Amino acid sequence: MIAERRLAQLAFVCPQCGKVNECATFARDGNHSPREGDLGVCFGCAAALIYQADAPPRMATGDEIRGLQKADADLLARTICAVIAVRGAAEGGSGRP
Ligand SMILES: [Zn+2]
Repeated sequence: MIAERRLAQLAFVCPQCGKVNECATFARDGNHSPREGDLGVCFGCAAALIYQADAPPRMATGDEIRGLQKADADLLARTICAVIAVRGAAEGGSGRP
């Protein structure tokens, strides 16, 4: 039997940019609370993060990102691009570098 992963801490300060993130939306269907080990993206800087149960999310390592299955890697890339586009639009830009 596989132990169920614990719910992750939702509100946190991004370890990369310091933005307070207070909620999470599941990228696939929006109806899921993050659990320990899930991958997330900071809405402030688009950093890839790993949720933890008893601590704020930490930065994902390069090995963890390289180890993602293709579907998860594609979803991560699309999510990072979406955050960058939204942030750019909110700041008055096109969202493009
Ligand atoms: Zn951040």
